[in-house]
Amino acid sequence: MALIVHKYGGTSMGSAERIKNVARRVAKWRAAGHHIIVVPSAMSGETNRLLGLAREISERPDPRELDMIAATGEQVSIGLLAIALKDLGVAARSYTGWQVPIRTDSAYTKARIEAIDATRVNTDLAEGTVVIIAGFQGIDESNNITTLGRGGSDTSAVAVAAAFKAQECLIYTDVDGVYTTDPRIVSEARRLKVISFEEMLELASLGSKVLQIRSVEFAGKYRVPTRVLSSLTDPLMPIDEEFKSGTLITFEEDENMEQAVIAGIAFNRDEGKITLLQVPDRPGVAFQILGPVAEANIDVDMIIQNQSVNGTTDFSFTVHRTELDKTLEVLESKVKSQIGAREIRADAKVAKVSAVGIGMRSHVGIAAQMFETLFDEGINIQMISTSEIKISVIIDDKYLELAVRALHKAFGLDQPD
Ligand code: ASP
Ligand code: MG
Repeated sequence: MALIVHKYGGTSMGSAERIKNVARRVAKWRAAGHHIIVVPSAMSGETNRLLGLAREISERPDPRELDMIAATGEQVSIGLLAIALKDLGVAARSYTGWQVPIRTDSAYTKARIEAIDATRVNTDLAEGTVVIIAGFQGIDESNNITTLGRGGSDTSAVAVAAAFKAQECLIYTDVDGVYTTDPRIVSEARRLKVISFEEMLELASLGSKVLQIRSVEFAGKYRVPTRVLSSLTDPLMPIDEEFKSGTLITFEEDENMEQAVIAGIAFNRDEGKITLLQVPDRPGVAFQILGPVAEANIDVDMIIQNQSVNGTTDFSFTVHRTELDKTLEVLESKVKSQIGAREIRADAKVAKVSAVGIGMRSHVGIAAQMFETLFDEGINIQMISTSEIKISVIIDDKYLELAVRALHKAFGLDQPD
């Protein structure tokens, strides 16, 4: 008998019929003797609908009130799920974030969880009641309702699993796990049975949408065994089969397991590149360029500075594509003439492709293999960045799919394990 946390996303909670299926699955786990806490999202589309209403009324709605509105989506789904469970004869009780309470800071629309009070929930669990806690929400010091950022119920679930020391946190979603790359681009993409927490963190930050990045950070910090699996399977399938399905995020490298060097190929089309031509090569120039960009709250991703020729150099960096225009404005008004750059160029047609794998730490030549593969396909690399377990390149976005397919094959990710 263990404590298991289940999280169900918007698609899994998307209709009355789906909610009944969630209830059947939860009832099965409870009948097997486990204590269960369920953390659902709002029904799919609901959070968008609610936030859309606010934006119809005002272009710049007060973030406190946005959280007030958005939190109702989850309040509806916890009530519906509790009713569905009771209909199956399972004792269940739902709680909003503030009833638990889940304490957060006051950063409306992107609050961070600070503490979870276990008292009320533990009483229910001891009685054998299934506890349903609204995802995505909490309450700050002054009892204002807060939300954790889009996709935040993943983080609620992992935080709840950590607070109650759950044996596993099962994240039920509309895909059946984490894949070696996007199967819509590469049909040979395979589901990974396990992935290390570090790899998952890289994949989440590189644009994989399977889990909210903060939930992965939480899982890492508190060592919560977290499994991504499908809610669209038969809800009554045997529990031991469910325990083997999906993708498990692990923390220790199992020495007996033949670890693939590369876990997956990630990509993202959301980047835009900016190049300042002929900037003087002297101390402080990078700061003079990127200081005003940071002040404007623009995130910079990759940076490259060329070797100087006759005292000047070209300086390039990437930002989120939607922030390209804003970045250009900052550079034109606060940087270009101040530092004496000749010209500024922007390129929205770039994409980032990354190979991720903890095996890189112990294998040499992975970068060379990646560059050779791209060269064989005639793809020019515009920028490169590396970390201990990741190599990313910026390329022309018209070659993105070709690059992903070629790399997936070159690293043997299409081979069954
Ligand atoms: N309902 C929230 C959203 O749509 C939180 C979540 O689904 O994780 O972002
Ligand atoms: Mg989600």
